[in-house]
Amino acid sequence: MTDCLFCKIVQKNIPAKIVHEDARTLAFDDVNPQAPVHTLVIPKKHVAAVQDCCDQGSDLLAQLLITCANVAKQKGLAESGYRIVTNTGRDAGQTVFHLHLHVLGGRHMRWPPG
Ligand code: AMP
Ligand code: ZN
Repeated sequence: MTDCLFCKIVQKNIPAKIVHEDARTLAFDDVNPQAPVHTLVIPKKHVAAVQDCCDQGSDLLAQLLITCANVAKQKGLAESGYRIVTNTGRDAGQTVFHLHLHVLGGRHMRWPPG
């Protein structure tokens, strides 16, 4: 999608600190981190939100979670723990409408989230 910030990161038209890349997914550090580790995991193909993934096949969703786990391991969070979040729509505060999973860790997380 031409006017999508994260598509531009996929195309390397906007710089990002990339921590993982494979054929279908990309992971890069969030520009405004909310925890010592805050990395975003996205599909390379433009999908607005999780419900729009349904016709991509369940393997894309599985691959995104596998990439989250790889990022957590790479960032040293596998033992201490981490949180995977995907904000969907207005009430959840989604601001970028290209599906992304936040991987957050390196500090204690409260529950419920705000
Ligand atoms: P959300 O509010 O769930 O849609 O999350 C969007 C996230 O994208 C926020 O955490 C932003 O800090 C992050 N973000 C926005 N622009 C960039 C960028 N150029 N590089 C990395 N992360 C970004
Ligand atoms: Zn996009």
